[in-house]
Amino acid sequence: KRKQIPSIDELFHGIQKGDKTALARAITLVESSNAEHLAKANLIVEKCLNQNKKTLRIGITGVPGVGKSTFIEALGKKLTSLGKKVAVLTVDPTSSQSKGSILGDKTRMYELAKDPNAFIRPSPSSESLGGVARKTRETIILCEAAGYDVVLIETVGVGQSETMVHSMVDFFLLLKLAGAGDELQGIKRGIIEMADALVINKADGENIRSAAIAKQDFSKALHLFPLKESGWKPEVLTCSALENKGITEVWEFIEKFFELTTSNGYFEKNRRKQNKNWLLQYIDNRITTDFYQHPQVAHALPSVINEVTQGTTSPFTAAEKLIKAYKAQK
Ligand code: GDP
Repeated sequence: KRKQIPSIDELFHGIQKGDKTALARAITLVESSNAEHLAKANLIVEKCLNQNKKTLRIGITGVPGVGKSTFIEALGKKLTSLGKKVAVLTVDPTSSQSKGSILGDKTRMYELAKDPNAFIRPSPSSESLGGVARKTRETIILCEAAGYDVVLIETVGVGQSETMVHSMVDFFLLLKLAGAGDELQGIKRGIIEMADALVINKADGENIRSAAIAKQDFSKALHLFPLKESGWKPEVLTCSALENKGITEVWEFIEKFFELTTSNGYFEKNRRKQNKNWLLQYIDNRITTDFYQHPQVAHALPSVINEVTQGTTSPFTAAEKLIKAYKAQK
């Protein structure tokens, strides 16, 4: 039986009170592909947008096994101990493409999940990265309206997901391991260039020395990149998420970024620039979804694909035919 969806006002007031159930239900609406749900979701997000709260959005990336969930748990608990409310969102485009998602399988952030001042939400499922992006952006807004001061957005280094997460956060943190080369860690130069901090995790036990050496090497490499528009100089830090060492330093570093960029105006400027991306991606995503859900298009698509793969129709002729059918029935 279908569950009754609370009204827009009920959900909005629940979110404003910090009610996690209302928040979770609103996020479910945002993640839905049902047009009616989407319309409701949009109205709620719109209400939540005018909150004017000081919040911080932090993107965290790194290859599987680097310690992302351990690190987020340690940082999250540090933040709640400071009286902050922390939301953790994950962006995992692999979860929709393959059966087993990289981020979602194991029980993650067990301790943080029990913290009343933390809210953890796994990756939305979607066929497209654009779909995940839209849902994640809107989920950030909902979490902030529910009083979460810091939103941590975790992503695994697959495909374009880091670039996407980078386009929706204030601060971008790259977790690394000492000892393994960048090729082995699957880290592309572009990702290092996006980072506001490089944090070498697992700096404990026998790794302490190699972590210190890696810190020096990466620091040298960072100097070769051009100065960031934010005026911020990224640095290399080391930590042990497992032993909870160096986490305070990472947070203090992020706070310095916040102070600098709010005082030089970059923070606001960047968020407005991100709104432009949001607008354009939203349009892309909505129109694409609408197109493929169109009855004529959905009906004709399999045979058109067949014609193209058989070589009887060219891709652009086939595409135009579908687009024509789509437009005719608007
Ligand atoms: P993720 O795949 O990036 O989320 O990585 P996890 O947080 O699941 O950690 C992968 C493995 O590394 C687990 O066995 C963790 O216990 C371990 N690990 C995480 N952080 C540290 C650390 O700071 N030091 C050490 N020695 N092990 C760690």
